[in-house]
Amino acid sequence: MDSILVLIEHRAGRAKAISLEALSLGQKLSDELGKPLKAVVIGKESDALAAAASVQAPEVLVAAADEFADYTPETYCHVLSEIVRRQSPYLLLMGHTYQAIDFAPRLAATLDRGFIPNCIDCRCEAGRPLFFRQVFAGKLTLQVGCKGEPPYLASVQQGAFGGQEVTSVQGAKVLRLDVPMPVQLVRRKVLEVFREAEGKVDLSQADIIVAGGRGLGNKEKFQIVLDLAKALGAAVGASRPVTDGGWLPKEHQIGSSGQTVSPKLYIACGISGAIQHTVGMVNSGCIVAINKDPNAPIFSIADYAIVGDVFKVVPVLTELAQEIRK
Ligand code: FAD
Repeated sequence: MDSILVLIEHRAGRAKAISLEALSLGQKLSDELGKPLKAVVIGKESDALAAAASVQAPEVLVAAADEFADYTPETYCHVLSEIVRRQSPYLLLMGHTYQAIDFAPRLAATLDRGFIPNCIDCRCEAGRPLFFRQVFAGKLTLQVGCKGEPPYLASVQQGAFGGQEVTSVQGAKVLRLDVPMPVQLVRRKVLEVFREAEGKVDLSQADIIVAGGRGLGNKEKFQIVLDLAKALGAAVGASRPVTDGGWLPKEHQIGSSGQTVSPKLYIACGISGAIQHTVGMVNSGCIVAINKDPNAPIFSIADYAIVGDVFKVVPVLTELAQEIRK
C-alpha cells in the first residue's frame, strides 16, 4: 500500500535509460515521502526477468506472459490498471517515451486520475510532490500539484533526472504477478517490430557532447567541431540552424524540438544559448561554452565560459585532447 511504482521499459532484457531516470526520481521521492519504492516490469518471461535483474530497486514486480511479448496499449493499460488495483500505489512514474504517450492517458482515464506528462523536476512540498513541466517550447515552466486521491501518474523527460544516480540495492526481491489478459481486450497483433531510423544518433547516452551552432558559419567550417568531438571520443550535437541548414542531419539537434541530453560534459561552440536550445542540455554535468560575445545567454548556464573566437579556441582544445589521448 502507498508505494511508489516505477514502470521499467526494456529492450533485449535491459532497462531503458529513461526508465532508470524515472527510478532515480522514484528513489528520491521514496526517501522524502517515506514510501516504499517498487519497479514494475511487463513483458515476455525471459525478457522481463532479465530486465528485472538489471534494475536496482528494493522490490521488482514482474508481470510476465507470452502475450506481453510485444507492447500494445491495451496490454499495458490492462496490466498496469490491475497492478494499481492490487498495490494501491501513491504514485506511478514512467519515462516520457512514445509508449507512455500512447498508453498513459488511456490508463489515467481508466483509473479516473490525472496524468502529469514530461516532467523536468519534482520536489516535495508539505509532504506532497510538486512537478515541474515546460510549455510553449520551454518559454514557461508550470508547477503542477497533485489534487484528489492517489494514485498520481507522471512521466519524466529524458535527461532530466540522471539515471546514474540510482543507488545500488543488494538482493532485490522479485515478485511475480499473474495478470491474465482478457481475450476481448486483445484487439491487435504486432506483426513486425522495426526501428524507423536504424543507426539513429542517440545523444541521450553520450558522456561527452561537443555541439556547434550558427557561429561556425557554414558546413565546411563546422568540421572543427567534428574534429574536437573525435579527439575527445565525444558525440556531436547541434543547434537548430545547423540542422535546418543541412550541415548535420536532424537527429543531432538538441533542444525543444530536438533531443534532450544530460552528458557529463557539454561543450557548446558558437551557440548563443536560446531557451529552445538550453532546455535540451541544461542538465548536463559540466557545461563549457565558447562564444565571442561576452553577453551570450549561454554563459549564464555555463560552468566554464571561454570568451573567444571558436576558430582560435576549438583547434587548440582539439590539439590538447589529441596530446592527452596519445
Ligand atoms: P545564434 O543564435 O545565431 O547564435 C550564434 C552564436 O555564435 C552567437 O552567440 C554568436 O556570438 C556566436 N558566434 C558567432 N561567430 C562566432 C565565432 N567566430 N566564435 C565564437 N562565437 C561566435 N534551437 C535549437 O538549438 N534547438 C531546438 O530544438 C530548437 N527548437 C525551436 C523550436 C521553436 C518552436 C522555435 C521557434 C525555435 C527553436 N530553436 C531551436 C531555435 C532557437 O530559437 C534559436 O534560434 C537557435 O537555438 C539559435 O542557434 P545558435 O545559437 O546556433 O545561433
